[in-house]
Amino acid sequence: MSFAQLGLSEALLKAVTEQGYTEPTPIQQRAIPIILQGKDVLAGAQTGTGKTASFTLPLLQLLSDSDVIHQKPRRVRALILTPTRELAMQVHENVSIYGKHLPLHTEVVVGGASIKMQTRNLKHGCDIVVATPGRLIDHVQQKNVSLAHVDILVLDEADRMLDMGFLPSIRQIMAYLPKQRQSLLFSATVSNGIKALAAQLLNKPVEIEVARQNATADTVTERVYGIPRERKRELLSYLIGSNNWKQVLVFVRTKHGADRLEKQLIQDGIRSAALHGDKSQGARTKALESFKDGKVTVLVATDIAARGLDIDSLPHVINYDLPQVPEDYVHRIGRTGRAGASGEALSLVSPEEAQLLADIEKLLQRQITRVADTGYEPVSLRVQDAPKKAAPSKPAGKKDFRHKPKAPIGRDPRAKGPRGDAKTGRRTGGRV
Ligand code: AMP
Repeated sequence: MSFAQLGLSEALLKAVTEQGYTEPTPIQQRAIPIILQGKDVLAGAQTGTGKTASFTLPLLQLLSDSDVIHQKPRRVRALILTPTRELAMQVHENVSIYGKHLPLHTEVVVGGASIKMQTRNLKHGCDIVVATPGRLIDHVQQKNVSLAHVDILVLDEADRMLDMGFLPSIRQIMAYLPKQRQSLLFSATVSNGIKALAAQLLNKPVEIEVARQNATADTVTERVYGIPRERKRELLSYLIGSNNWKQVLVFVRTKHGADRLEKQLIQDGIRSAALHGDKSQGARTKALESFKDGKVTVLVATDIAARGLDIDSLPHVINYDLPQVPEDYVHRIGRTGRAGASGEALSLVSPEEAQLLADIEKLLQRQITRVADTGYEPVSLRVQDAPKKAAPSKPAGKKDFRHKPKAPIGRDPRAKGPRGDAKTGRRTGGRV
């Protein structure tokens, strides 16, 4: 099937061709015609499936087909809500790329960036707003923007919005919108919470599911390394150094953990940057840009900060800590193997994390392949063998005292020994 068969206009077909897309992805094939018909949609699609284009392309077409396209001042006719600033910026970039041959104007409205500039731009008028909920509410309350003429609403990564506690904000925003509108809800996982939200927001939605719920992309090779906790950093440096990996996204659980690992990797001679919610927007953008440009090899990120990252053909994702919420495993893995490219997702799992691993495998309904010989002393990842004090199962949001002042963790990988050298990648024991 071609994009032309989906009923897209010449201006959009041109933009898509310029992007080098030859055929629509499954979510695009299914969602675009339905959205063009003006219907509400509930779509279960994870990142990497081409979901952003699947709502952006028809949205742009519907807006540009409408009679009010030349109305001045411009009124906001489409609103795209996202859980994080990074995702908002990513979606904004997509809207700009696909809409570059159309006379539509888009603004992005996120926290952590100058409100003055946003106010000026919003007052100037725009057709599309891409926003995170909190900052958008500020602007509406300050009367910098009106949402009374929104024809199309998109909630992107709605499951993450619920996880992040945005439900009250979403409800508040709904009160600013006209009742008569087209609403599209995209979510990686379709939980009962999402179904309840859909029942409130959507009108007779067409349900589309492209990947099996909670499935990870087939193009991703997943493996688990059973490893003592204090050896993780050493193994990580070794894997990156010995394989000469150029772009590696490493997930950790806490902001503090991200900063610490960034420093340790730099000590190991690996160019690294950390991305987490305590960093200013400027620092986050800089870290991301350096990673995209190849100036740093490793981006150490927390789940929330990494949400919405779209880096073309990101080849390696490493779970340095397993996530507390099993669904986050699916989201993390979604960072690689995007749009058909192959990727590798490795999890460094200590015995203390056996229960978290079991929860993930229960969700996936399959076992993740274990690396038989990690080059380190073998450890058991069976729940019954886990140390009694299963420290990682602390509630999210509490301070992490576990690794307190015992720096540096693990053996210095630069010290040559039986297990090899992280910088040169030479190794004498074990097989990866
Ligand atoms: P998304 O799921 O929206 O995060 O998209 C994942 C990646 O797929 C992005 O880098 C898009 O640029 C890319 N993409 C979207 N649609 C297509 C397509 N039809 N063919 C090839 N790549 C695509």
